[in-house]
Amino acid sequence: MTEILLKNADLILTMDDTRRELSGADILIRDGQIVQVGKDLHTQGEVHDASGCLVTPGLVNTHHHLYQTLTRAVPGGQDALLFGWLQTLYPIWARFGPDEMFTSAQIGLAELALSGCTLSSDHLYLYPNGARLEDTISAASELGMRFHPTRGAMSIGESDGGLPPDILVEDETAILDDMIRVVDAFHDPSEGSMCRVGLAPCSPFSVSRELMRDAALLARDKGVMLHTHLAENDEDIAYSQAQFGCRPGQYAEDLGWTGPDVWHAHCVKLDGAEIDLFSRTKTGVAHCPCSNCRLGSGIAPVRAMRDAGVKVGLGADGPASNDNGNLMLEARQAMLLQRVANGADAMSAREALEIATRGGADVLGRTDCGRLMPGKRADIAVWDTGCIESAGSWDPAALLLAGPMTVKHLFVEGRQVVRDGHITTIDLPRVIERQNALARALQA
Ligand SMILES: [Zn+2]
Repeated sequence: MTEILLKNADLILTMDDTRRELSGADILIRDGQIVQVGKDLHTQGEVHDASGCLVTPGLVNTHHHLYQTLTRAVPGGQDALLFGWLQTLYPIWARFGPDEMFTSAQIGLAELALSGCTLSSDHLYLYPNGARLEDTISAASELGMRFHPTRGAMSIGESDGGLPPDILVEDETAILDDMIRVVDAFHDPSEGSMCRVGLAPCSPFSVSRELMRDAALLARDKGVMLHTHLAENDEDIAYSQAQFGCRPGQYAEDLGWTGPDVWHAHCVKLDGAEIDLFSRTKTGVAHCPCSNCRLGSGIAPVRAMRDAGVKVGLGADGPASNDNGNLMLEARQAMLLQRVANGADAMSAREALEIATRGGADVLGRTDCGRLMPGKRADIAVWDTGCIESAGSWDPAALLLAGPMTVKHLFVEGRQVVRDGHITTIDLPRVIERQNALARALQA
């Protein structure tokens, strides 16, 4: 039995069912699980002093493409809209292999961890040159991050009227076979699981209607979740209407892509009827505010979604369209965008933080994460309120209005992954060196 006690936190934002905020309180962790939250707790085990700190649940990232950390700020893609941006990047991604997938995932996940994230999903939809989903699973496992990789796919290449070059698309039978392989090999449905696999055809414009339908059937058969990009921008809506004769919400519903086991990235252009559909079916949304700004896609109707009871989490999205992987900044941006659209009282700092933690955990079907309560997993972010960003703050719990934007300590399943602002589990400077060498080789 291993016990850890976080002692004397200035404030704990529990995100529990009544959103309690406890001052001068402790958290007792046993074997990866929270056993007590309250005052004057004791242990025979390890004690971490959390005085001068704000403690929150670990943040949850519901949408990412980790491999893209190798294509940040690519010149030809810096100012393009979604479709043009993709066409710039596809030929570069076609040169990736297993090493690129592994290293870029370590960088992306370490970056997330430093911003307070303890659980991340990933959407990997291209497998060139022998790359496999387990390249990213090994990266997460070495780092100690709770991970929900999704087996993405593209099957309609340029010669069939699709957007990606033919070299990046796969045969649909092979895609389904590999989906079965990775679920059987890596999906762990148990409570406290460190790895759950999802199925994730890239988007309605890069796979066939049949693959969308078959992936949904397979996911239900295996008891895993479904994920894709949906209603990202105006081009996306126009494509859906031209190709399928309906809006994205209708397309998703017709093919079995709604329900509590489904979450869609972006949803910037959902209309009122689609918001009702998502609410009724308990379909989740991964809101990616910085990526939506970067690609000029628009402001997702998050206020309307939340008011309608739609489950909303945050996504950093791929670093080719962000290009930053700090999830705390994403939460801040989510709050600011709703204020731009709906006024200064449209979203509080606490609500944005709730979306970033408990909200994201619910989207990923992880009600065992995202809240600091007895019985939940010990995924915990500790923020130093003695830092410059907090100096003079009258309410450190309004973290997103001031700061900090990086953690002091981070625990995942009770294991310390960040200590005093540094990753403990991997040699990060060496990984950064490796990543830069790979990026230089891709530019050559
Ligand atoms: Zn994406």
